[in-house]
Amino acid sequence: MLEKGVFVMANDRQDKIRIGISTCLLGENVRYNGGHALDRFLKDTLGKWVEYVPVCPEVECGFGIPRETFRLVGDPVNPRFITGRTKIDYTDRMLTWARRRVAELEKEDLLGFIFKSDSPSSGMERVKVYDEKGMPQKKGVGLFARAFMEHFPLLPAEEEGRLHDPMLRENFIERIFALKRWRETLAEKENRGKLVNFHTKHKLLILSHSPKHYQTMGKWVAQAKDVPLKELYQKYQILLMEALSLKSTPKKNSNVLQHMMGYFKEQLSSDEKQELLEVIDRYRQEYIPLIVPVTLMNHYVRKYNQPYLKEQVYLNPHPMELQLRNHV
Ligand code: SF4
Repeated sequence: MLEKGVFVMANDRQDKIRIGISTCLLGENVRYNGGHALDRFLKDTLGKWVEYVPVCPEVECGFGIPRETFRLVGDPVNPRFITGRTKIDYTDRMLTWARRRVAELEKEDLLGFIFKSDSPSSGMERVKVYDEKGMPQKKGVGLFARAFMEHFPLLPAEEEGRLHDPMLRENFIERIFALKRWRETLAEKENRGKLVNFHTKHKLLILSHSPKHYQTMGKWVAQAKDVPLKELYQKYQILLMEALSLKSTPKKNSNVLQHMMGYFKEQLSSDEKQELLEVIDRYRQEYIPLIVPVTLMNHYVRKYNQPYLKEQVYLNPHPMELQLRNHV
């Protein structure tokens, strides 16, 4: 029996990155007023790399277009889902549909979900919940978003509004690509050597998010011989997703880059070392983006064919064309 949220994957889906998305973000006219909430970056830029699985809870649950708006009312942890003007309570109908839909989504091999912010159905956090006097508090979660996140606790989830922040965007997309590589590993026959290989390539990426997980996971993988394979894989993926969900920062990235410098003690002249240190420091102080020291590091890795570093996913975690490290 697999632990909740642990991934399995059909072989024919390995090459695709499938992400769930609130339908209106793709420009479909499914909103209450017949409009959409098109997000150009998601549709046109990220859309070149991923295959979206659209979900519009309100339309799929049988409410028409246009329709009356809904709002969350009552207890922020367990709110009611009510029409704004006529005050009809549709909580049970929406919850029943949401539970069925998330179970169906298991078949889609999703690697994440992008939710529309502020929606009583799709919002992931800080959705308005109204008290009995009609006063809102931004403490709610949309009913479908909650059902999804409870059903798939390890899957990366974000809102389109938060994805306008370059750091959060880079982090989310990095997690999706890491999860894709992890699922490719899962699709092969389980084997301790393969897990060690995956971990070795991801070590510096993990370090850039969480030095603590870097330590724990290193120890865990080193003890691999004594742990049953299934348990090892399950625990590893929980730690991996936990680690990558912690934000990388200029300080953490600078530490990783300085750690990498240590591999070139013999090759770099003192002037080259000085230059590299200066570039890392300028990045740490946020005068230049991460792409600058990473490009210089890639140059030395290639020039000196450093065997450990050239395998590190950290140096190329997602497609260059997305330009994610040009803005963090
Ligand atoms: S926010 Fe959610 S429920 Fe509302 S239109 Fe978009 S996808 Fe549909």
